[in-house]
Amino acid sequence: GPALLFVKTSQGKEEGRRFYACSACRDRKDCNFFQWEDEKVSETRLAAREEYNRNHQPTFTHRQNVERYKNFVLLPLSKRRFCQECQQLLLPAEWEKHSSHRFLCDISTAQLKSPSQFLYPLENKKTNAQYLFADRSCQFLLNLLIDLGFRRVLSVGTPRLHEMIQSKASQEEDFRVRSLLLDIDFRYSQFYTEDEFCHYNMFNHYFFGGEAAHETCRKFLYEDNGEKVIMVTDPPFGGLVEALASSFKKLMAMWKETGKEGQGNKEMPMFWIFPYFFESRILDLFPSFSMMDYQVDYDNHALYKHGKTGRRQSPVRIFTNLTPRMIVLPVEEGYRFCTICQRYVSSGNQHCEICNSCTSKDGRRWKHCVLCKKCVKPSWFHCNNCNCCALPNHSCEKTDSCCFVCGKAGHKRSACPSLSRS
Ligand code: SAH
Ligand code: ZN
Ligand code: ZN
Ligand code: ZN
Ligand code: ZN
Repeated sequence: GPALLFVKTSQGKEEGRRFYACSACRDRKDCNFFQWEDEKVSETRLAAREEYNRNHQPTFTHRQNVERYKNFVLLPLSKRRFCQECQQLLLPAEWEKHSSHRFLCDISTAQLKSPSQFLYPLENKKTNAQYLFADRSCQFLLNLLIDLGFRRVLSVGTPRLHEMIQSKASQEEDFRVRSLLLDIDFRYSQFYTEDEFCHYNMFNHYFFGGEAAHETCRKFLYEDNGEKVIMVTDPPFGGLVEALASSFKKLMAMWKETGKEGQGNKEMPMFWIFPYFFESRILDLFPSFSMMDYQVDYDNHALYKHGKTGRRQSPVRIFTNLTPRMIVLPVEEGYRFCTICQRYVSSGNQHCEICNSCTSKDGRRWKHCVLCKKCVKPSWFHCNNCNCCALPNHSCEKTDSCCFVCGKAGHKRSACPSLSRS
């Protein structure tokens, strides 16, 4: 889909030079598309680009993959193979071609319903950054959605949630929830029909399947028989918040357009799952949102730290435009209801009398600084040089440039401690 327009700024200079680059791949190694905004592109180069794109299409189209799947499920267990190198379901006639590759054999129907369990997570940090929900968190999200009365889930970059919904729907007769997965990971087209999965780029709101895919999404968002829709998204954390927000607003607009007049000023309900240090950036773009204290856990996520309780501490939270008090967090996991804030908070999150709110972001008890006039992390102290609270070992001079990710001074986005993964 379309590239994004960026600007190269050099320090001290007001205006930078603008250029187009790939919206989805933040690593030039994954996609080296680069073009100055004012650059003239020759016919030859255009042709070469188109040629390159033609040669880099997936082996099969979504439609072909759906046909292949139909044939695959007809095979006896002993003939159901998945090539781990090509990440592809194989039909017997293709075994030969993959003979030097590693296979998974005897793929059961249950396995086919949980592809995220055997597709390897695309961990490539800057592009796909596939971090899958731990079962506990996925179950929590689904139960929450059901308790809130939602019957349709637009799963944007949440394959595991989608898969949990799909597999329950096929197994439990009275399970009424449906899901549509929008994701850039085309491997999923092998397991889901065109009504269940759209190949989609959430950084530029691009549907690879064109108008037909648009229409699938539109239909899904149309709330007939009062079936309430919610969108759940868990984008890669290295992604540009502004680009994501712009796409999500377009999805919200799609929902609004499909609605009857009754919708008035309402927004499509949404859960945006993202680290807590993006709070101010998200709230700037979505003023109706607030951040919940629930810590979303992942299977393959190295962002875990072991807190003093031995429970892993995840920095990932749910941002939502639903009324906070509706989001009931599990008491068994240590969450409680604050009657003043009218929302569920972490057990360690103390209500601060001066701020008049439960101020902790990371689940630990924060302390109030009278000079900063706000609560700060327990490990911080007030620095008179910087005129704000900081870690005891911070260096005072490095305050000129701020990190793109967490907004703090002293390091660049690439070195942001909030994003470091082992
Ligand atoms: N926790 C989720 C997965 C989140 S990982 C779950 O368990 O279901 C981020 C997801 O976003 C991955 O599925 C990845 O394929 C998808 N993704 C990454 N870049 C994307 C893009 N540009 N457009 C759409 N989806 C993208
Ligand atoms: Zn292969
Ligand atoms: Zn409170
Ligand atoms: Zn306070
Ligand atoms: Zn202070």
